[in-house]
Amino acid sequence: MFSDKDTAHFANLETPFYYYDLNLLQKTLSTCADAAKVYNFHVHYAMKANFNNRVLEKIRATGFGADCVSGGEVNKAVEIGFEKGQIVFAGVGKSDKEINDALDQDIFCFNVESIQELEIIDELAAKKGKKTRVAIRINPNVDAHTHHNITTGLDENKFGINSWDLPLCAETLKKCANLEFIGIHFHIGSQITNLDVYKNLCVRVNEFAIWFEERGFVVKVLNVGGGLGIDYHNPDGQIPDFPAYFKIFNDFLEVRPNQEVHFELGRALVGQCSSLISKVLYVKNGKKKNFIILDAGMTELMRPALYQAYHKIENISKSAEVVVKYDVVGPICESTDCFGKEVELPETLRGDLIALRSTGAYGEVMASHYNLRENVNVAFSD
Ligand SMILES: *Cc1c(COP(=O)(O)O)cnc(C)c1O
Repeated sequence: MFSDKDTAHFANLETPFYYYDLNLLQKTLSTCADAAKVYNFHVHYAMKANFNNRVLEKIRATGFGADCVSGGEVNKAVEIGFEKGQIVFAGVGKSDKEINDALDQDIFCFNVESIQELEIIDELAAKKGKKTRVAIRINPNVDAHTHHNITTGLDENKFGINSWDLPLCAETLKKCANLEFIGIHFHIGSQITNLDVYKNLCVRVNEFAIWFEERGFVVKVLNVGGGLGIDYHNPDGQIPDFPAYFKIFNDFLEVRPNQEVHFELGRALVGQCSSLISKVLYVKNGKKKNFIILDAGMTELMRPALYQAYHKIENISKSAEVVVKYDVVGPICESTDCFGKEVELPETLRGDLIALRSTGAYGEVMASHYNLRENVNVAFSD
């Protein structure tokens, strides 16, 4: 829902632009921080969801750490002022340069995704005369019950170390003098809305923690990743149910005294705080279909083209008198450049403003220059 003040403000801005509601972001962050504090859980924000500077500033100020998946993100986290002791680095394909840079930064921990990677980090740390902390990302073979393109914790996925490789992993850890094992890491997928999935994850985490303890390892950190979903159908002021989410882990994880529980939330923290605002360039009324052609396309918001993601579409210039069904499409030369089919909207005219809602996560960060499109604009609520 946008106020008249918002829409008056939008009329003066160049479209398309991402609009950030910083108040909602702040409320979301505070709600999450308060809910985590009840159990002394640690939250690292998954930076890949949104690395807009203003957004990152607020997240850092809330006291969260940063979960990075590239050297660029590690550098950005340091630049924004996240504490180095609260920066973790995951990813299946860390290059030697990225590892070396992260070693120089003395980040909290590498979340390691293969046995070969363990050996390489050990070797590079040795060259620098350093000892570095590592956690083992385990693929627990737990179904996240989400879209198959955003599932990461099944045997067929490329992420993490499979359970049958753990004996070799344990041997390797014992051999690597420049690695300090600190714990185990999991991340099974994104946009998870069925919280039972997390109960299944907890059961597996408990089993793996015991497995490592039985082999003489001290498991100081249980990192359960992120993935908590948001309600794309009800974007207005919606804050995910963080208390219910954290309670599941409190109820089902067996946490030892002195053990820390870490989370890596991305989408749930930033998803609802932004909308992509776009202008209608043309309306084409056909026999079978009516098309609305926007000045934003998959180059500004890729999720619908990439994995058929749903974003609520609203005409914020009009209220409904006559309702028409439209296919809402972008200007890019690809048939998948479509935001929604048969969308019911008030009869729409050239020049109307259209809001694509819930675009705070995996929106602006995935923008591209395909078709030589320009950088997408950004606006804030203050
Ligand atoms: C992407 C990612 C996350 C965050 O996922 P969300 O679904 O946005 O919460 C957490 N951990 C890792 C390792 C990731 O790659």
